[in-house]
Amino acid sequence: MSSETGADPLVIRDLRFLGPMATVDGWRPETTLPEIAFAGRSNVGKSSLLNKLVRRKAIARVSRTPGRTREINFFEVNGRFVLADLPGYGYARISKERRAEWRPLIEGYLRRSPQLRGVVLLIDARRDPTDDDLQMLDFLSEVGAPTIIAITKVDKLGAAERAKRIRDLTVGLRLDDDQVIPFSAHTGLGRDELAAAVVSLVEATPESAEAPDASDAPGPLGPSDSSDVAEAADEGR
Ligand code: GDP
Repeated sequence: MSSETGADPLVIRDLRFLGPMATVDGWRPETTLPEIAFAGRSNVGKSSLLNKLVRRKAIARVSRTPGRTREINFFEVNGRFVLADLPGYGYARISKERRAEWRPLIEGYLRRSPQLRGVVLLIDARRDPTDDDLQMLDFLSEVGAPTIIAITKVDKLGAAERAKRIRDLTVGLRLDDDQVIPFSAHTGLGRDELAAAVVSLVEATPESAEAPDASDAPGPLGPSDSSDVAEAADEGR
């Protein structure tokens, strides 16, 4: 069932929920770990993608808790980086005012997170990017956040249509080919590619803080010890 080969770029040894950020001036985890944020329209497939990425159901479970859907939920992965699950934006069925609510929180977070190393923005393969998507992309380039675009639900398209769609989105949004990752939570397509891209972002030295001493650099993200016995406890549930 799984499309993964033996070499998993991101083996999840430990995943913990750190807490939610509800307002732009509200609580957020104090951490020196690199942060990677995941953003996209409501219903784009973000929970499904995150589940697949970490191979557990924990993230979706937390992020779907009533009241949590409008918050940023933070998770620490392997004690090595923080994953920030941003609230889905632009849900069509809610009022205009509520639709605009995401802006201060998401934009405030993205502007004020010195540990932010990159953002994965999800776009639905079958839909044209919305104004919200375009504004988000503009915003990310304005704040200089390295951005990866995950094109979700590609299993819904046939091979030819999929290739054309990916090309059109890449050209239309003026992206580089290596920024774009076709993804399917249903088939697992793109999971390892996305995992590898996230690891690269985590390991990249931020431009603002060139490391003077590389000997302090942390090791690779893979399993470095065998002390965590909880691994895979959630797998397959
Ligand atoms: P979220 O609101 O962005 O967290 O989206 P969800 O992960 O809850 O997914 C929204 C809907 O899209 C659900 O009905 C999912 O089953 C469906 N979905 C998510 N990912 C995929 C995918 O890769 N392929 C297909 N065919 N459907 C998907």
